[in-house]
Amino acid sequence: MSFIGYKDTIGEGDLVLAFLGRDAIKPIVINKEETLNTRFGSFPHAQMIGLKYGTQMASIKGYGFIHLLQPSAELWTLSLPHRTQIVYTPDSSYITQRLGITAGSRVIEAGTGSASFSHALARTVSAEGHLFTYEFHEPRFLEAKKEFEEHGLLGTPVTINHRDVCKDGFEISNYDGDVKATSVFLDLPAPWEAIAHLSQVISQDEKVGICCFSPCIEQVSKTLDALKEYGWTSVQMVEIQARRWEARQQMVRQVDDAVLRLKDVKRRKLEGIERKRRFYAEHGQPRDEDSEQEVEKRKELEKEETKVDRTEFNPFGRGLRIKDGDEAFNWIKVSKTEAEVKSHTSYLTFAFKQATPSSTT
Ligand code: SAM
Repeated sequence: MSFIGYKDTIGEGDLVLAFLGRDAIKPIVINKEETLNTRFGSFPHAQMIGLKYGTQMASIKGYGFIHLLQPSAELWTLSLPHRTQIVYTPDSSYITQRLGITAGSRVIEAGTGSASFSHALARTVSAEGHLFTYEFHEPRFLEAKKEFEEHGLLGTPVTINHRDVCKDGFEISNYDGDVKATSVFLDLPAPWEAIAHLSQVISQDEKVGICCFSPCIEQVSKTLDALKEYGWTSVQMVEIQARRWEARQQMVRQVDDAVLRLKDVKRRKLEGIERKRRFYAEHGQPRDEDSEQEVEKRKELEKEETKVDRTEFNPFGRGLRIKDGDEAFNWIKVSKTEAEVKSHTSYLTFAFKQATPSSTT
């Protein structure tokens, strides 16, 4: 199973992202002996084999269901096992676009961390390009390597390296050819120490872009000094503040509507009181000796006989439901933002290096 290609039908050994809800996506590798147990019920892997990706699957008992989704870099970011802080899609998509990374690009990334951004980069550079990713923490390096292998990314287009890029630089021996990176992404505590080593591995024939991802302004300041010292120009720092924007229409409510509603509340109250009075006159008061069944029966009857009719039109909530945009009413367009969206806000420092004139001729 590869994050680069597509597959129609789920088979044994495939990675499936079981979508339980927006905040609950569970990665599973299909093994016909296993069952996915969730709060929505049980889903045997054997029954997933042969289904198309995207299928809604019902649980074996009960009424629960899940969706069986094709892995994508964006869904992986939402479901991956966290080993570190990760880069989320609002940042990764912006960085990719800003650095002009596309199919065929050659990208350096350090550190690999939980390989969230690595999956998005690998998908973007595709088999024509290459991602060189570096991680100095051995257990994280091994985990990421295993994941790349399982996801069909190791070798083409990903080479992962176990090394300290601040001390030992980016040159590697496990790749046949030159790195010649056209884009660099540094998500490290001290990116300024790594910048010094980049000149040996970036392309000398093309414009090269770099982005350093740092949560503190003090880190940005040191990064700016290093970028200047090593000849990077067009420096810009930005911060992504992701917001979900909801746009919809809302019914215009008039004072007359409020008056109508108050009158309606009063009518329902009086009608309810009158019906209760009639009910008690007809059925008498409840008696202490009534059995549980008689009490229940009486409650049902009381509910039924004292029910007051619903209002025809109520713009404030309960009552007859009005279809959104119904032309009989006035509507205005409104928008609101969601306060918090999952994205790790860091400062993004971008800079570029032009190809040197001698190397372009
Ligand atoms: N961008 C990653 C993602 O989206 O999953 C998360 C990166 S995580 C915040 C930073 C990683 O850099 C850590 O795993 C850390 O071990 C690694 N690291 C820190 N200093 C390093 C260095 N000098 N060389 C290589 N890796 C380093």
